[in-house]
Amino acid sequence: MESAFVFINKIPNILMKKINLKGLTLEELKSFSVSLEEKPYRGNQLFDWLYNKRANSIDSMTTLSKEFREKLKIHAHISDLKIINSYQSKFDGTRKFLFELEDGNQIESVLIPPKTAFYDNESMKLEEQKRLTVCVSTQVGCPLDCVFCATGTMGFKRNLSTGEIIDQAMQIEKFAERKITNIVFMGMGEPFLNYDNVIKAIKIFIDGMNIAARRITLSTAGWIDGIFKLAEENLKIKLAISLHTMKDEIRDKLIPINKRYNLSKLLEAVEYYYKKTKLRVTFEYIVFKNLNDKDDDVKMLTKLARSIPCKINLIPFHSITFVKPAGIEPELKPATMQEMEKFAQKLRKNNLTVFIRSSAGEDITAACGQLAIKSGK
Ligand code: SF4
Repeated sequence: MESAFVFINKIPNILMKKINLKGLTLEELKSFSVSLEEKPYRGNQLFDWLYNKRANSIDSMTTLSKEFREKLKIHAHISDLKIINSYQSKFDGTRKFLFELEDGNQIESVLIPPKTAFYDNESMKLEEQKRLTVCVSTQVGCPLDCVFCATGTMGFKRNLSTGEIIDQAMQIEKFAERKITNIVFMGMGEPFLNYDNVIKAIKIFIDGMNIAARRITLSTAGWIDGIFKLAEENLKIKLAISLHTMKDEIRDKLIPINKRYNLSKLLEAVEYYYKKTKLRVTFEYIVFKNLNDKDDDVKMLTKLARSIPCKINLIPFHSITFVKPAGIEPELKPATMQEMEKFAQKLRKNNLTVFIRSSAGEDITAACGQLAIKSGK
């Protein structure tokens, strides 16, 4: 194994920037341990303390020798994201967290309690309804600028590190005093534009924090390079595609990267993903009144579902006028819940698996598409 931390023990302390252990994978912790002239198994012990036991200080790692802990304290630290504020929905208990990062940037994440993520009776039967879910961010802002999304109006600031991604779930779990069971990568940012850190975070969630792969969902706006790469990872997580229409002329306006990766390229990637993994994908579909809720949309979705095994999540459109979007957002109108149910019935009649997502957290701007830092950093 080639170490990224060779000779770390030989560098004068004064020149050393302490390494944040939180966010290092098992291999990286082994390699780090070797660089401190310790045996690789020390990496396994650190991995267990950091992620399984959720240790928040080196001193609390009591099964490590005092000597090793002292050495660790010279070269490493464990950093925590700072919760600046949290807001709880009056209606459904959804809680949004505002975190400050070490460089002063801020991000948001959402805790979704059981029985709130979906809306209608059909959807209530879903296993996911029993879960305690954290929706994590992967970037500060986002460069993709989907017109229905508040994050897109912030522009892109930077990618989050692996540690910053997993720590959202760890800090929220500590706050909630309950075990997180599900992770969705549906917060701020396009996960595939931060591919390496996101994949490392997923591996830590699965192997370190013991969250089952099938309870982790990654949602992409359609960055197909990421879909092809993920297909090779053998991770068994769920993939969700932000689809919203089967018409390029509409998708070009809703999700600008459709001009680069149009529907035929996107669906070719999704088909490849299915063939490679045999995992059913989820298509996310925000229902806009008089835009993508017509009978020909039902027909096109039915054709899609017959070619790629999938389920379809219908999502209510949540207004983002609070961030004053410059694009076509003011022209987009939400379908009512009754209209969404009708649309769902038409799809279900054609034997499609369809669920309706709720608007949980809308009163605290924590619902789908509403995450954004409104001012300053
Ligand atoms: S929907 Fe996702 S990809 Fe699109 S702008 Fe928002 S965060 Fe970025």
